[in-house]
Parts: sequence; structure tokens; C-alpha cells
Amino acid sequence: MATARTGLRSLLACWARMFYCRGSPAGALSGVTSTPSPVKKQPIPILKASRPDLDPISMKPKLHGSIIVTYRCNARCNMCGVWHFPSKPKEEISPQLIEKLPQMYFANVTGGEPFIRLDLPEIIGELRKKAKRIVISTNGFFTGRIIRLCETFPDLGIRISIEGLQESNDKIRGIPEGYLRTQETLKKLRELGMKDIGFAMTVQDDNRRDLVPLYEMAREYGYEFATACVHNSHYFHKWDNKIADKEAAADEFRRLIAWQLNSSKAKEWFRAYFNYGLINYIYGKKRFLPCEMGDNGFFLDPAGNILACNGMEKAAPMGNLKAQSWEEIWNGSRTRQVRRMVKECDKNCWMIGSAAPAIIHHPVKPIIWVLTNKIRVIFGKEPNTRI
Ligand code: SF4
Repeated sequence: MATARTGLRSLLACWARMFYCRGSPAGALSGVTSTPSPVKKQPIPILKASRPDLDPISMKPKLHGSIIVTYRCNARCNMCGVWHFPSKPKEEISPQLIEKLPQMYFANVTGGEPFIRLDLPEIIGELRKKAKRIVISTNGFFTGRIIRLCETFPDLGIRISIEGLQESNDKIRGIPEGYLRTQETLKKLRELGMKDIGFAMTVQDDNRRDLVPLYEMAREYGYEFATACVHNSHYFHKWDNKIADKEAAADEFRRLIAWQLNSSKAKEWFRAYFNYGLINYIYGKKRFLPCEMGDNGFFLDPAGNILACNGMEKAAPMGNLKAQSWEEIWNGSRTRQVRRMVKECDKNCWMIGSAAPAIIHHPVKPIIWVLTNKIRVIFGKEPNTRI
């Protein structure tokens, strides 16, 4: 039993690295067998109570932070209404405010379009001190700014939102020639030698057929490939997003899952599980794993509000970092109230910001699904993606 538990923990650690860390899967997998240095003292579990920001087992930062640096955006995406409600530059969080954040194991910088902010390098400079791993989500339009930032911070991850091949992408995102521009940015990032670059695609009826072709393109160039489905929430200012042809969209995800499980990379197998969760979401079912946002993850919005997540109908701030310290917010009564709201939330969203921490903190189900379906694929059977 103890061996099984240790094995599971190793797989969990492997999964955490695979999901968040750049580098080869071999590098990620090597962590599974590494033995801890004998001279390092083991953490004292009693510290758990005083450090809710640390994982009680590894005593390493457990928080996944999403930093929304602006609600301004140059794109006009049909599944997102953020661009109708731009934040005022003077009111947006400053680089100095980042100093108040706790240590995180992963930070995602997002928007709006983050590269609209000319002080993004200072923000990243501050965030660097807080999170070992930083990924910026961008529409890839501001090529020069992206390249300059990556020259300064070559270990950043860059995820460029592409909503399909040229026709679908330009129709959905509303940036003329946007697709060519993003491809140009990706090419320049490649030439720069950036290791951690990739696409992020949000599936809807208009682009579902491009899902697998984009995945194939990502594989060809060695890009990461992140997926999502349209959601409705206060963050998106959208309430009418829906997948009309659920079966057709689910079938495209099934094709993608088959590809990913056929891959030799363990990272891809867990992405297949995430995509299985998206099929589940499309059918409006209860999410596979509990949501613990507000406990192992948070959002910081451009006004300084700390939110549990971006998926609720109405924003539920736990506090404001401009007026309070992190500790005041994180240990406050309002935060406890919001955590109860999260426990009772019936949105069943499945976005990477809340699904990834859930997979990391509840690894048994994903690991069993991955192992079972990898074996099925090895024996020439279809993965089990029944809902
Ligand atoms: S399931 Fe979690 S992340 Fe999604 S809306 Fe509810 S509380 Fe937020």
C-alpha cells in the first residue's frame, strides 16, 4: 500500500512537471525516478497549518496564479466580450503590486491582450521572483514586443491563441490577417530559440474541424497545443456561447484524444484526459474532479481584486490587493465565504486554470484513465471516451 502511494505521488509529481514544465518529456519523466538528496531535511508536516500556500507533502508552493494584467484587447473574438469592457490604463495593477503576491508554482499572465501593456517587462520582472514558471497567453499580434520580452526572459512560455486555420481564425478573432501575423510571431520565436511556445485553441462550432489539423501542425513544429471550449462567465461577458452540434465537437475531441494517446509522450496522455474532460463539459455533465479554486488557485484582475476563478456567473472577489495584504485576503472571512461558494458551484466548467490544479491534487482518477486507455490504444482499441 505504501509503495502504491509512493508510486502515485511520483506519478503526480511527474504529471505536475509534465503539465507545467517546459523541456523534453524525458526530462519530465526523469523526475519520477530521481531520489531526494540525503542531506536535505524533510519538511515538518506541522508547518502545514501556518503555510496554506504550501503543498503539505512537498512543502513547495502549491498555488496556481492567473494574472489578468488588462481587459484591453486589440482582437474582437466572437466568443469573448472582454474587448467591450476595457480596463482604464491608470487603474490597472502596477508592477509593484505583484510584489504583494505569494510564491506560486505556476503563473499564467493573461488579459485582454497582455502585450498591450508597455510595462509588461516590469510586470514579468516582478513575477519572476514569485513563480518559477510563467506562461503568457497572447493573440500574438504584437510581434516586436513579444520577441523583445522573450529576449529578456528566454525561459518564458508563450501560448498564442489561434482559433483554427486561416479562414476560421480570422473570422473568429476579427483581426484582419491575424493568422498570418501569429504565424510570423511563432516563426520569429522559433528562430529566437524559444523552447516553450505553442498554440491555444478554443473550440466552437465554427472551428471544430480545424482542431486535429492544428494539432498536427503543432506536432510538426514542436509546439505545445492547449485546448479549451467556449464558456460563459462574468469574465468573458458572454452568456450565449454554446456548442450547437455537441456530437460533432465531441467527435473532433475524440480524434484528438486518439492521436494524443498514440503519442510516446506521457504529457500528451494527460492532455488527452483534459480533452476527455472537455467532452464531458460539452455534454453539460458534472466535472470529473472537484474544483478547489480559491484554495489552490486564484485570479488577480486588473483592478487588483483577488478572485477564486474566472468561471462564475458573477465575480466574487475575496479582497483587493491594492487595499489589503495577501495574508489578510487569503486568510480572511470573505475568502472563506468564497471557498464555500466554490464548493457549491454548479457551473461544472472545465478550463485549464481550474482543471490543471484539480488534476494535480486528485491524480488517481486521471492516472487510472490514462493507463487504461493507453493500454487500449496499444492493443488497437479505441480510447474509452464515453460520457
Ligand atoms: S467550477 Fe470552479 S472554476 Fe468553474 S466556475 Fe465554479 S468555482 Fe469557478
